[in-house]
Amino acid sequence: MTTAAYDLVLTGGTLLDPAQGIHNERRDVAFKDGKVAAVADHIPPAQSARSLDVSGKLITPGLVDLHGHFYHGASGTAVHADQICLSSGTTTGVDAGSSGFLNYAAMRDYVFPAHRTRLLAFLHIGAVGLAANRVLGGALHDMRIIDVAQTVKAIKDNPGFIFGVKVRMHYDAVARWNAHEAMAKAREAATEAGVKLMVHVSGTPIPLPDVLEHLGPGDIATHAFNGNPEGILDNAGKIRPQVRDAVARGVIMDVAHAGVHCDVAVANAAMAQGIIPDTISTDVHIAPPGRTVYLMNDLVSKFHAMGMSLSDAIAASTTRPAQVLGLQDSIGSLTAGMAGDAAVWEQRQGRFVWHDMAGHNVEGALRLDTYATIKAGAIAWQEGRLTRMGEC
Ligand SMILES: [Zn+2]
Repeated sequence: MTTAAYDLVLTGGTLLDPAQGIHNERRDVAFKDGKVAAVADHIPPAQSARSLDVSGKLITPGLVDLHGHFYHGASGTAVHADQICLSSGTTTGVDAGSSGFLNYAAMRDYVFPAHRTRLLAFLHIGAVGLAANRVLGGALHDMRIIDVAQTVKAIKDNPGFIFGVKVRMHYDAVARWNAHEAMAKAREAATEAGVKLMVHVSGTPIPLPDVLEHLGPGDIATHAFNGNPEGILDNAGKIRPQVRDAVARGVIMDVAHAGVHCDVAVANAAMAQGIIPDTISTDVHIAPPGRTVYLMNDLVSKFHAMGMSLSDAIAASTTRPAQVLGLQDSIGSLTAGMAGDAAVWEQRQGRFVWHDMAGHNVEGALRLDTYATIKAGAIAWQEGRLTRMGEC
């Protein structure tokens, strides 16, 4: 039995925690019983069972990925959460609709509990989620796949695990003549269950305003900065008025970069017109050959290179997604008493290039490279070398 006051202390680091208003200040961070126990100028290592010298490194809250695919082994394109998340400083991953009401139970009972990463879910409005994605693209062509009542029941039966409804408004997933109905049913399910609605808005077969009109405060337009037709810009490159209205009423503009769902030219044009990503997320999945799916550390670095301050990029990947989930009192910050989830970064200086599938490159001089990931007050990942960019 240990008599130490703390289980782990990070010493000598620089803390960036937007929720606490701490921006690059010298702090030690101590953990006890899975939670943050203290944040102070100096915490003697002797008070802790274990200490990690992180001098010269940046400490942030563990990142929260609001859109990924983590139903590993059960959905053809889902990744192994611990390999992907913990290696990229991510301690919470939200599965965006890999399962529906017919097949979520194994996610809850077998797949998610096999991981150290905190994993939460949005339930797809289609009964089997994305299990058939590679052959049916989201499987909303036949409306018999949607059962609002059973979806609502599954959500209500699983508080703390299911946080919302997902619907895929993509021409491969839903036919033009079904899309309005699918959208309306997803809205109905989210409203009845009292949860958030997340809509894939890239490649929608119906006009984007017809989709956005269903979204209210805290609902999520995911892949918001895509370069497909029916995007957020009009033909003159201006933000469409219905998009401004949606942002004004609190609709969350989520990145969900993936390989093909974030066009640098669209994101730059939006940011220049004051539409800043609310949340930076990956849409991490097993992509077809030739596509790069960046992980959270690269996306934070990329959006920083595109003009967001590092504080804003970290807020968009910690406290903002935590707020969307209603979990801002437990994750997304290293305030004492909150979950002991942190990321420790090497701030690599150099010339880095991030691309998109539209052919645009972003160049930057700073890349966050994971030095260690702390989950529930313990070191969950530590490797003293650069991870390969784009590894997924
Ligand atoms: Zn996705």
